[in-house]
Amino acid sequence: MAFRHLLQASLFWLLSYSPAWAAPDRIPVRVGVFENPPIVSAASDAPPEGIAIDVIRWVAEREGWQVTYVPDSFDNLLARLDKGDIDLLAIIAYSDERAKRFQFTQQSLIGNWGMVFRHAEADIHSLPDLKGKRVALMRSGTHSQALIELLRQFDAPFTPVYVDNFPQVMEAIAERRADAGAVNRVFAALHPHQPDLVVTSIVFNPVFVHYAAPKGASPALLAALDRHLEALKADPQSAYYESLRHWLEATSANGVPRWLPWTAAGAGSLLVLALAIAGFLRHQVQRQTGELQRRADQLQSEIEQRIQAQAHLNQLAYFDELTGLPNREGFRIALNQTLTGLQGTNERLALLFLDVDRLKNINDGLGHGAGDLLLKQIAIRLQSVLRAHDQLSRFGGDEFVVIVSEIGDAADAELVATRLLQSLAMPIHIGSTQVYSSASIGIALYPDDATSMESLLKHADTAMYQAKEMGGNRFLFYHAQQTARVVERLTLDTRLRQALERDELLLHYQPIVALGSGNIVGVEALLRWDDPDRGLVMPGAFIPAAEDTGLIVQLGEWVLEAGCIQLRAWQEQGKASGMTLAVNVSTRQFEGARLVKAVQQALSRAGLAPECLELEITENVMLIMNDEVRSSLETLRGMGVRLSLDDFGTGYSSLSYLKELPFHSLKIDRSFVSKLPERGDIQIVTTILALARGLELQTIAEGIETQEQYDFLRDHGCEFGQGYLMSRPQPAGALAPMLGRPLLAGNA
Ligand code: C2E
Ligand code: MG
Ligand code: MG
Repeated sequence: MAFRHLLQASLFWLLSYSPAWAAPDRIPVRVGVFENPPIVSAASDAPPEGIAIDVIRWVAEREGWQVTYVPDSFDNLLARLDKGDIDLLAIIAYSDERAKRFQFTQQSLIGNWGMVFRHAEADIHSLPDLKGKRVALMRSGTHSQALIELLRQFDAPFTPVYVDNFPQVMEAIAERRADAGAVNRVFAALHPHQPDLVVTSIVFNPVFVHYAAPKGASPALLAALDRHLEALKADPQSAYYESLRHWLEATSANGVPRWLPWTAAGAGSLLVLALAIAGFLRHQVQRQTGELQRRADQLQSEIEQRIQAQAHLNQLAYFDELTGLPNREGFRIALNQTLTGLQGTNERLALLFLDVDRLKNINDGLGHGAGDLLLKQIAIRLQSVLRAHDQLSRFGGDEFVVIVSEIGDAADAELVATRLLQSLAMPIHIGSTQVYSSASIGIALYPDDATSMESLLKHADTAMYQAKEMGGNRFLFYHAQQTARVVERLTLDTRLRQALERDELLLHYQPIVALGSGNIVGVEALLRWDDPDRGLVMPGAFIPAAEDTGLIVQLGEWVLEAGCIQLRAWQEQGKASGMTLAVNVSTRQFEGARLVKAVQQALSRAGLAPECLELEITENVMLIMNDEVRSSLETLRGMGVRLSLDDFGTGYSSLSYLKELPFHSLKIDRSFVSKLPERGDIQIVTTILALARGLELQTIAEGIETQEQYDFLRDHGCEFGQGYLMSRPQPAGALAPMLGRPLLAGNA
């Protein structure tokens, strides 16, 4: 704390040398302010303050502005801006609509988005749950408008309860005048809220806030703001970051982030020196000649240059160029220092190792430039949900590490991990493409799991790996057994290769049924590994590893051949007329255009017509969409092979691709089917069905386990389905007697 005050005091003293300070003619600037702490806070009985105000003050001092503040409601301020009653509005979220009405600074002040809080007793978890509820909204706020629009799209009418500012939103919920309410994330992060207010996982409308001026006004004010904002943001030691730290830490316990001392130490000691010299010189200047003034300026500028050079060196050595976050080296210094500080105390710390899921797909599909943009956005999102004393670093590639200090128990680390995952839930715009990202997080605790930096890192990494193996988009705590699993995984590749050679692989088949008639119209081939040591191994345990190593290509070709031969055999026994064989294809099989050849070969070896084969490809194929993949799909379709999109709704889908690509059907992922008929899932499933109808695609529902699910799907126009209700996947021999007759005739 004392350190920060010293820093502020020294900055202030240096600032008072600015020539603008003495400028005689000041430019009057009327700035509209309203209550939106901590960005701007405008109580009627106190001068306004907050991040936006700090920046205005900084610019005003340099540009010779005479600022007067005009506190009013946001709504009224917009009207004043229209009329030119105020010269600037601090702050306003950018929207294309508003850009027609006002001029905006190009530089944003800070990124922000909407979050929904609910009353502890209100049963609200996702957007559709807001239907029919009373929702407190700040009048004319962008987030309010966005939420209204979003709920309209979800066909979820609700009752808005309008208030003037965010604190009133919280009050309305606490007093049960509203069931839920929308605030922005900066407000939410900084304001401790009452225990009966609960944050939901609903986040929406990421926006950036700017300053705005009336449409016809001279652009000079905004240009000055842009110039200063750009310079301030480029320098991690600048007053801008000082202000962010100050306001974003306003509610944290001791205020000083642990990382501040080590990044600012060099600059800090120079500043102390500068303070002393500048103070001395100031005295002299008052008494003496212009010569001294010149020397003072010279000294000061030398000091500033040294500070800048030092900062630049620090930046290169300890920070990642792309995201501006500390790099691996910066992280090491920070963690070492933190750990040293913890020795002999009872304090705990969590290390979160985060790896972005499927970044490789994005790099391959959209190019490395897009991958970089995505990483930058991800870094911003992650940073935005962390507390000021949590330290985020980029470890390289798609890996980030967070040091979460001052935790009570594992649940605190869990909360941070959940927030990090949630921050990635909204799509990220890369140019005109929307990308869905997610991450896998491994958590290691100090001192519970390890006390050294190396072991903590290794354990968090191991847990991350396992989270990834479980499908990603989740966090896992480290457990000692996981180390054993990593070793196991290393040998898995070798063992799988042997399995292929030693004929330990086999296929089970699960019927696909026409829901209307109950007739079997096809089977899906599902890979199994009959491991002599472990017995029957399910694909979830080895396919991800095979995808990593590339062995999936050989496995996939084996499945194609074996499946085609089996279907042909059934056909020859007169058991499979008109039946198709569905085979899962990994996106890795598209590499090098081998797939088309493999399919041709399998069909011709088995003597099977291409129309009998259906390839199931996961939605993520859209991420790697390039000319080669597109042409493989088109060639396959041209041959008569059927194509379906597997696990629809769980990955990345682009509507425009969906329209363009030659798919015949969508398979609705079983995660949506299994929860039917829950409200949220009903909506998702009916939306997918409507979408498929619109695109003239057939639909196959996976994982039907109950009659209720079956009936719901059939009644809502889903044509086909598969699931344990009709039949589990079975070896060919066990399935043979069922072929050729309805499985659930009663449903016809
Ligand atoms: P998938 O393609 O979505 O296959 C459907 C999975 O759902 C199968 O799991 C199946 O046993 C399971 N399932 C079917 N009906 C029900 C049900 O009513 N309830 C529940 N809980 N589950 C049901 P399985 O066989 O473990 O396969 C898992 C995944 O492994 C497959 O998901 C597919 O993505 C992958 N896979 C399987 N065989 C192959 C293969 O030959 N090649 C590739 N690339 N992937 C494969
Ligand atoms: Mg499948
Ligand atoms: Mg599936």
